Amino acid sequence: MVDVERFRLLLEEERDRKLSLLKSLRSDISSVSLARQDSNVDDEHDPEGSTIAFELSQASALLEQSRVGLDQINAALERIAAGSYGRCEICAVAIPEGRLEARPWTPFCVEHASASQDSLRRS
Ligand SMILES: [Zn+2]
Repeated sequence: MVDVERFRLLLEEERDRKLSLLKSLRSDISSVSLARQDSNVDDEHDPEGSTIAFELSQASALLEQSRVGLDQINAALERIAAGSYGRCEICAVAIPEGRLEARPWTPFCVEHASASQDSLRRS
């Protein structure tokens, strides 16, 4: 039997971390955007402009990643509340505790996690 309470704490910790990361990324992005407007650089031809554009795209990618991660964490917390936490959403097999320790937000067993990643890659 999985110690759900322990994973709930892990997930809440991770959620707080993600929330503060999202907050700092959003302020980074808006300050970089403002700096770009102020300097009025041409992204295509100014070397400094392309660096800023690169930083912005990096920060946006990280922001998107964190947002997806946060969704997964919230979904896992909902499964805890619903009492379905720790079981694979596809085959309903109990997810090994070691796997939950590494990825407490995962809704899949090892087998179906790789299967769902494959289908994401294919689509
Ligand atoms: Zn499964």
